[in-house]
Amino acid sequence: MKLKTIAIATLIAITSMQALSDDSLSGRPYSNATTLDTNLPDLGDVSQTVFTPLDEQRIGEQIMREVAVSDEVVQDVEVIDYLNALGNRLAAASSDKQQKFNFFVVQDNSINAFAMPGGVIGVHTGLFLAAKSESELASVLGHEIGHVTQRHLARMLAAQKYDMVKNIAGIALALLVARANPDLAQGALTTSAAVGVQNQLDYTREHEREADRVGLQILSNAGFDVRGMPAFFTTLQHGSRFSEGGAPSFLRTHPLTGERIADVTNRVEQMPYRQVPSSIEFQYVKAKLQAYHGVVETNIAVFEQNIRERRFVSEPAEHYGLAVAYLRKNALAQAEKEIVWLKKNAPAHAMVENLSAKLQVAKNNPQAAGKHYETALKIYPDNRGLNYGYAEHLLAIKQADNAIKLAKSQQRLYPYDAKFYEVLASAYTMQNKQLLGHQAQGEAYFRKYDLTRAIEQMDLAVKANDGDFYQRSIVEARLKELRRMQDSDKKP
Ligand SMILES: [Zn+2]
Repeated sequence: MKLKTIAIATLIAITSMQALSDDSLSGRPYSNATTLDTNLPDLGDVSQTVFTPLDEQRIGEQIMREVAVSDEVVQDVEVIDYLNALGNRLAAASSDKQQKFNFFVVQDNSINAFAMPGGVIGVHTGLFLAAKSESELASVLGHEIGHVTQRHLARMLAAQKYDMVKNIAGIALALLVARANPDLAQGALTTSAAVGVQNQLDYTREHEREADRVGLQILSNAGFDVRGMPAFFTTLQHGSRFSEGGAPSFLRTHPLTGERIADVTNRVEQMPYRQVPSSIEFQYVKAKLQAYHGVVETNIAVFEQNIRERRFVSEPAEHYGLAVAYLRKNALAQAEKEIVWLKKNAPAHAMVENLSAKLQVAKNNPQAAGKHYETALKIYPDNRGLNYGYAEHLLAIKQADNAIKLAKSQQRLYPYDAKFYEVLASAYTMQNKQLLGHQAQGEAYFRKYDLTRAIEQMDLAVKANDGDFYQRSIVEARLKELRRMQDSDKKP
C-alpha cells in the first residue's frame, strides 16, 4: 500500500491550499463558498480565484519538499534529469509557456501517472517499464501536462463543497505529520473523509478528452510519434506483467472509455505519419529502472536471456541494464565485462562513463576512479550524474578543497541544485569551518523548499564564531531574508 504516499501528498497539497484560501479569501470577491458549488458560469474564472497561481506555486513547492526526501521517489540524478528533459521539452511545446513543471519517478509497480497542483507530475516505475517506446511515455506526460495547463485539478476543487474540504484539511495535515510512520498514515487514510477526497480526484470524461486532445497536440509539436498515445492505450487495456492484478491504476484516475480511444484514434489518423525512434537515454534509463526493480537475480536472468535470444529493441540497453544489475549485486567482474562490451560496441555516452567510474569506486580503486571522472568530465562537463559522482568521490577520499572547487563551478550552472550545496557543507565541515558549513547546509535546505531547516542552519551560521566580518554580514542578511519569506508564507 505504499503507493498511497503520493496520494497523501496530493490530499495534503489540495486541502492545505483550501485551508489557506479559507483565511486569505475573506473580503475578496468570490469568497462566498455557496457560489462555488452551484451553477458555475465559467469554471476557469472560479478556479483562478479559489486557486491563485501563487497558491499553486506554494503547494507545488510543498509537494517537492516531500518528493526531495521521499524513499519512494527515485532519487537517481540520471533518471531525474532524463525525465525532466523529456517533460520540459513537451511542456515547451504546450500553449502555456508560463507554467513551471517538475517531473519525478515513484518507485511503484503499478501503471500510473498523476498531476498535482503547481505542475508537479509523477510517473510510476511500472508505467515507465510498460512504455514500449519513448513516444508512448511522452504521450502519458503530454496527457498529464494537459491536465495541468487546462487547470483540471483547480476546477475540480473549485467545484467541491467548501465546508467539506475544510474539514478534511485537518485530517490531511495529520497525515502529513504521520508521513514518517507509514502504519499510522495508512490507518488515518482509511477514514472515510480522506478516501472521499481521493475519489473526487478522479477526472471526468470531459477532462480526459481535453487532456488527450492537448496531449496529442503537445506530442506532435514536440516532434514525437502521435501514434504513441493510442499505442499506450492498448498497453493499458491489455494490462501488463508489471501490474499487480486488476486494471492498471491509471485507468481508475483517468477513465479510458471506448469513446476516448475512438476519439484519439480518429485524430491520429488525420495527423502526418512520423517514425520517431526512442532515444538511447530512454533505453538506458528504462534498463536502469528495470535493473533496480525487484529481485536482482531475476533481472540478471532476464537481461542475459534477452541478449542470448537477441530479443531487444536496443542491444546496448540490455548490456547496460545487465551491468547495472551486476554492480547492484556487487558482482564486479561481471559488471566490468558488460562495461567493456559497451565501450567497444555502443556509442560513447555519459551514462556509460558514469557507470564505468562507479565500477572503479566499487573496486576500491580511487586513483582509477578519479582519473576516470576527470577524463569523462572533459567530454561531458555539465553532466550532473558525472559531477555528483565525482564530488562524492572527492569527499570520500577527503579532498575537501577539490570538492569545494567542483561544487562552486557547478553552482554557476545549476544555482537551484541542493546537492552541490550539500557537497560544500560536507567539505567545509571536513575543514572544520562552522559558519561556511551551516551556511551551505542552509542553502541546501532552501533549495529543497524546507524553509524551517534553512533558517535553523542559517541561525547556526550566524552563531558560529569562526567567520570574518564579511562572511558574518552575508549570513545575517540571508537569515533576515529567509525569516521574511517565512512570515509572508504565513499570511498570504
Ligand atoms: Zn487523465
